[in-house]
Amino acid sequence: MAIAMSKILSCSVKECAYNVNDKCHTLAITVGDGSHPACDTYCYSKNQAKGGAPDVTGGVGACKTDACKFNKSFECAASGINVGPHGGHADCRTFAQR
Ligand code: SF4
Ligand code: SF4
Ligand SMILES: [Zn+2]
Repeated sequence: MAIAMSKILSCSVKECAYNVNDKCHTLAITVGDGSHPACDTYCYSKNQAKGGAPDVTGGVGACKTDACKFNKSFECAASGINVGPHGGHADCRTFAQR
């Protein structure tokens, strides 16, 4: 069965190299460990150098947070996710405890 990739609807972590205008511009991110839905692809860009591709809207390539009710076999089955800051890193804000 094909799985549609969950898109990143918004990300407010402006200091990430892949963030331009609150959108994620890398093809696919990896999220989390078992219980903490951090964006593993987050890349702090001190001088605001930007990477990724401007015409790409990122999706969730894989998510390891199986405590989330949207997680199916370590993939994200949400229709889309929002990402925001948590301490010095980025978290999936669509996370919902099972
Ligand atoms: S923190 Fe994650 S979701 Fe946000 S722009 Fe960076 S790589 Fe994309
Ligand atoms: S919504 Fe849940 S399954 Fe999808 S990326 Fe976020 S934490 Fe992972
Ligand atoms: Zn966090």
